[in-house]
Amino acid sequence: MQPSPPAAEARSPIETYLAALHDRHAGHAGGQVANYIPELAKANPAWFGICIATRDGHVYEVGDSRQPFTMQSISKALVYGLALEDRGEAAMLERIGVEPSGDAFNAISLKAGTGAPFNPMINAGAIAACGQVMRRSGRSRIQRIQAYLSACAGRELDIDVDVYRSESQTGHRNRAIGWMLRNFGVIDEEPTEILEAYFQQCAIRVTCRDLAVMGATLANQGVNPITRQQAIAPDGIDNILSVMSTCGMYDFSGEWIYRVGLPAKSGVGGGIMAVLPGQLGIGVFSPPLDGQGNSARGIRACTDLSNDLALHVFNNGNAPLPALRLKYDNTQVRSRRRRPQEQRQALGREGGRVRVLELQGDLVFSTVEPVVRGVNEQARECQFFLLNLRSVISADDASLRLVVELQRSLAARGVRLLVCHARALETRLRRLGADVETLYPDDDTALEACEDLLLANVLGSRFVTAKEVPFARCDLLDGLGAADLSSLDAAMAERHYATGERIICAGEPGDALFVLLSGSVEVRLPGPTGKPGPRIEVFAAGMTFGEMALVDGAPRSADVIALEPVSCRVLEIRAFEAFDERYPRLKIGLLQQITRQLSASLRRRNAEVQAFKGR
Ligand code: GLN
Repeated sequence: MQPSPPAAEARSPIETYLAALHDRHAGHAGGQVANYIPELAKANPAWFGICIATRDGHVYEVGDSRQPFTMQSISKALVYGLALEDRGEAAMLERIGVEPSGDAFNAISLKAGTGAPFNPMINAGAIAACGQVMRRSGRSRIQRIQAYLSACAGRELDIDVDVYRSESQTGHRNRAIGWMLRNFGVIDEEPTEILEAYFQQCAIRVTCRDLAVMGATLANQGVNPITRQQAIAPDGIDNILSVMSTCGMYDFSGEWIYRVGLPAKSGVGGGIMAVLPGQLGIGVFSPPLDGQGNSARGIRACTDLSNDLALHVFNNGNAPLPALRLKYDNTQVRSRRRRPQEQRQALGREGGRVRVLELQGDLVFSTVEPVVRGVNEQARECQFFLLNLRSVISADDASLRLVVELQRSLAARGVRLLVCHARALETRLRRLGADVETLYPDDDTALEACEDLLLANVLGSRFVTAKEVPFARCDLLDGLGAADLSSLDAAMAERHYATGERIICAGEPGDALFVLLSGSVEVRLPGPTGKPGPRIEVFAAGMTFGEMALVDGAPRSADVIALEPVSCRVLEIRAFEAFDERYPRLKIGLLQQITRQLSASLRRRNAEVQAFKGR
């Protein structure tokens, strides 16, 4: 029989869709390649590429997605961002408006009286914005602009010198605009150098893929999703996207936002960069332009893309994930610290006063508000809330401020709000005034701290963790008679371990059980590269570990490490087996005790599984 041929690599349904979209519009013959900049007229009118870049840095591309062309006006949106970073919002608004003009991109239109350009997306506003970019640390305007745009694209972009020269030699209209701006004091110096910088920024060479990545950078709070570099200051993102929404497609902007519904910017090179905030960036490229100077195929492709994939920003389907992922209390889920019976019982009774809320997704006002409401409602029955942010993707300042405010108002009522797994958000939480002592690296340490405080409250002076427990009072010996006790005493040798020493190694044969007389140990699952993995249990004096080996004889499943100087008594499996003949009652007693411990820990795990299922 013939072996079957290797299966062709499966094409993603998104690639299949993009290929069909490309086919649908590739034959469209409308529009004219720009020729007022002579060099642009050399473009091939058939070039057509479509790209989507996701927020996690994946790029889908079809057609001429790697064909270089010049950014032209698309640069205006980002250079406006750079000028905002340099000068601040108020200073920029004084010079350049944010009103759609209804005029063509190259109109010599300035507001009557002030002479301020209507917006930064038409040439007048863009030239003024370019003039606001500062020369800094020995770098010229255009060098800074080039570096900035390169960071947005995630690769070194160059200038198409032929296109630049071609525009510089013919751009008399833009020169006229420059001198008008100088006349009205919108720019503070002779426009000559600013205009050259502007012509060069327009001639920066990109591909349609670069546009998608730049769009995704805007969608991702200014962080380039591929290089992870903060390319654009997050403060300016809403400003940039606003002017793109209202003015980015010139006098087609109203219809564009109505039909396509994505902040976007086009250029006479044939490119369009569109952004679905918080989600993705789109780059489309095809040189023939329609009457408004926008890529004719680009408009069609984006319209379909938005409709087919439901990308319109005002789509109601974009409701964010609810922030509350899971909630449970300390009766259901305990810290990894094993506790003596009295403490276990106290937590069983009172653990409802410690509540854990696991949050997820993007924290914004509308997702955090229900969490704040819920916590406030429950605060009367609670002493502690723990917000676990492990599954949180992002949080804006408004939502973090709500958390900090909640923490403050709860504290005034004697209730503590702890936060764990806040990682990247910790600095901002602190800046917004969060109590530093309430920020914990992980949920286990936070939960343990809550338990300790709760137990201190409930048990008062009886809440002590014994440093040392006499052999006869250890858990394992519970219920044994005096004779059995002394037989066992004789059979178990004493061993000592230093802080950090490994008492048990995962994978080794399990040949003994340990009773902890003093000190404490942690149990950790083996990590990937021989390093210790996650902590699953902490044992203190009086407790038993390693007992599973006596039941099933299987190799050790985890490491046990001394957290401080430790002394133990050790019962070798051989000695235990020898009890069969000499001390059968002792062996049964020990097995009963071990079974009780194992079933208690299984019950605890069951309660956790139930809590984590969220019911
Ligand atoms: N460099 C071009 C100009 O100023 C940019 C215009 C555009 O892309 N709409 O004319």
